[in-house]
Parts: sequence; structure tokens; C-alpha cells
Amino acid sequence: MSFDKVFDIAIIGAGPGGIASAIEAKLKGLDKIIVLEKADNHSDMIRKFYKPGKRVDKDWQGKKFEFEGNVTFEECSKEEFLEQMDKKIKDAGVENKFKYNHHVYGVKKNNEGIFEIGSDHELGIIQAKKVIIAIGRMGKPNKPSYKFPAKIKPRLNFNLDKVKPGEKVLVVGGGDTAGEYAYGLVDMNIGCDVTLNYRRPEIVRMNPTNKEIVERYFKEGKIKSKLGVDIEKVEPVENDDVTPPRVKVFYKDGTTDVFDRVIYALGGTSPVDFLKNCNIELNEWGEPIYNEETMETNIEGLYTIGDVVTSQGSIALAFNHAYRAINDIAKKL
Ligand SMILES: Cc1cc2nc3c(=O)[nH]c(=O)nc-3n(C[C@H](O)[C@H](O)[C@H](O)COP(=O)(O)OP(=O)(O)OC[C@H]3O[C@@H](n4cnc5c(N)ncnc54)[C@H](O)[C@@H]3O)c2cc1C
Repeated sequence: MSFDKVFDIAIIGAGPGGIASAIEAKLKGLDKIIVLEKADNHSDMIRKFYKPGKRVDKDWQGKKFEFEGNVTFEECSKEEFLEQMDKKIKDAGVENKFKYNHHVYGVKKNNEGIFEIGSDHELGIIQAKKVIIAIGRMGKPNKPSYKFPAKIKPRLNFNLDKVKPGEKVLVVGGGDTAGEYAYGLVDMNIGCDVTLNYRRPEIVRMNPTNKEIVERYFKEGKIKSKLGVDIEKVEPVENDDVTPPRVKVFYKDGTTDVFDRVIYALGGTSPVDFLKNCNIELNEWGEPIYNEETMETNIEGLYTIGDVVTSQGSIALAFNHAYRAINDIAKKL
């Protein structure tokens, strides 16, 4: 596959931000666009990290959101959300703009002010007048500061994919994801014994619905609470009779406990290397510095949207960012 034209817009990442960008662009009459996605389908992060049947909230992380643009969604389940996205992509007529299995490594501007995007051999170098980076931040989930001993790594996970019926599971984190993983495991009714650990003594970072469910499950004994204490380290259980050995958790208050599995829900780091590769100016947290109204970075024509710019991201926010970026691009093209 080769392209003999310069695209108006190249969009990198087909999560909510990338999808909304493609649709908003089409609505503005911009047809020379391409969406490059490393996975084999859109919304890959959602497919991988949301548990089956998860309720997809509009107001995420306790924040109220109003939609600014044309792409919106109704509160629904994970599966319905993916269907809604399929339909929106089809209805907007942008299906053929999405190129899957194309991992992008960086974006550079050439001497003529055109962006060159290095992907893979099949696509070669793609050229575009404007670029929107919508790669999210879950490529690299946040890890705790202590080491993961090699022997127990298979038991230290970042989503629920590997949980088996009957396991004793520790969920670590204080945000909505941690809450949903904890009560989600209980609701799956697969006989798991679930503990939620958060370093603060109270749950302050969840939306009211999740907070209510978690606190109720604490009261009802469905989730065991281990709040107000951090983990010092994790080690393999010595001479355990299962392989790999189970995980011994050492808390900073001197207590210990043994788990079949530990699930870390600590958010994700912005992909600093990718952004640095593009020469985008970053703040002290490794997030891009950008114009709030247009989403443009220090590099003219290069935009960052969605989770890659904030750890407080949500689907509605990614949609709104897409709308702002496309509005600005449409004015300038
Ligand atoms: C467990 C969990 C539950 C959540 N629940 C909710 C909720 O109920 N409501 C809500 O509003 N928000 C929720 N969120 C947050 C929400 O999912 C994100 O804010 C939203 O998905 C951000 O969209 P995005 O497009 O910026 O990034 P992402 O959804 O992360 O999409 C990024 C896309 O870019 C692709 N990509 C990454 N790197 C590259 C590369 N180098 N080259 C090509 N492609 C690349 C990825 O494969 C992915 O498809 C939840 C998050 C988690 C983890």
C-alpha cells in the first residue's frame, strides 16, 4: 500500500479521541485524512482494560462533563459503547480511513513544513499537513515504586484478564478503575475473595456511583478493605506448593498477607518517549504543553488530545478535545 498524496490530517490512535477526530473532520468536509492504529481494531484500550459488561459513565472520575462537539454517547455497557462507536464510524462514512496494525513511532516536520510519520514497511512514510496525536496513556500502565520479583510476575497484573475463579485477589488503587475492578470481580460471581488496598484512609477519587458501591460492599463484607496503608514490597511465597508461587504482600504497617493475584489499577503514564521523539515540549509530569482552546502543541500543526495530555481523562473529554482540534485545523487548512 502506498500513498501518493499528502493527507490533510493524520490521526494517530483510534480510541475515543481518534474516532471523534475522524468524524468531526468528515463533518467539516475534510476527507483527506488517515487514522493509524497499532491494534487490530478501534478502542483497543477499552476492549482490553474495561471488564465485560462494565457500565460506561459520561461523568468519569467524579467530574461532570458536557459535550462540546458532534460526537456524544449515552451511558451504556462496554459492549454497547463499542457497538455505538462502530455505528458512528460507519454512519460518518469514515470506515476506510482507519488503518489498523500500524504502530507509529514518531512524527517529524520536514523542511517544507509537512509532517512525516514513520510507521512500518507496508505504509512507508506518511505525509500530512496536520497531525493529531491521540495515543492515550495506557500503553504503559503505572507501576508501583517497588520491584516485581521475576518469579511472581505472572501473578502481578494491570487488568482482570488473567483472574481465575476462586482466586484470592488484591486490587491496588483508589480511583474508579480500582473500584470497578474490585466490585466487578465480586459481581462476576466466580468465587473470588477480593481485597481493595489504597494508601489513603478514605476513598476520595471515585465517582459517587462507584464510591457508593465500594463502600456498601465493604459494609456487606463482599470486599475486604485495606485502606490507609501502602505496600512496602511483594515477594514470592517461600516453598509454595503452586507454580508460580503465590504473592506475599508486605504492608508498611508491618502486616502481611498472601494472594493468588495482585491487580494494579494506578493509571498510566503519558508515553513520554513518543512525545519527545516528536520534539513536543513537556511539563514536569511528562505531559505535553498545549493550548487549551485548540489543543495545538508548541509545534505548529501538531495537536495532542485525550488521555495523552491528562491523567484525569475521560471519553467525553477526549471527544471535546477532538472537536477543539478539528475546529482549529479546519480554520487553518
Ligand atoms: C478500566 C477503565 C475504565 C474507564 N471507565 C470510563 C468510563 O466509564 N467513562 C469514561 O468517560 N472514561 C472511562 N475511562 C477513561 C477513558 O477510557 C479514557 O479517558 C479514554 O479512553 C481516552 O481516550 P483516548 O482516545 O485519549 O485514549 P485511548 O482510549 O487510550 O486510545 C488510544 C488508542 O491509541 C492506540 N495507540 C497507542 N499508541 C499508539 C501508537 N504508537 N501508534 C498507533 N496507535 C497507538 C491505542 O491502541 C488505542 O487504541 C476508563 C479507563 C479505564 C482504564
